[in-house]
Amino acid sequence: MVYGTVVADARDGTRIEKLTQVGRYAFGVVWGDGHDSILPHRTVRLVCPCEECEGVQAEPHGAAAEPKRVDLLGEESLFVEWADGHETLLLLTELRALCRCARCVGEPDYPISGR
Ligand SMILES: [Zn+2]
Ligand SMILES: [Zn+2]
Repeated sequence: MVYGTVVADARDGTRIEKLTQVGRYAFGVVWGDGHDSILPHRTVRLVCPCEECEGVQAEPHGAAAEPKRVDLLGEESLFVEWADGHETLLLLTELRALCRCARCVGEPDYPISGR
């Protein structure tokens, strides 16, 4: 076995294989472990961890939930520039935790945080 002690599965699940646009309102993510997530833009904006957004619970709408530019930064972060000029930087582990598919919701490896 070439991989030795590397925990390949854990790592792949937090790596993005492919990032697409799903309809007008969501990101489509294919993860390194083959999992698919559909993440609404609003959900991603809502969890923006920056100082300005911290504690804001209001549902983003309009330009605030419309991505203008999306980039992968290295292998660990996703950068989103929104149409209202705001910028969000999320760890891929945080992004993966947003997936609400049946498998993820029931999967103890990716617990849903207190939100
Ligand atoms: Zn923010
Ligand atoms: Zn999922």
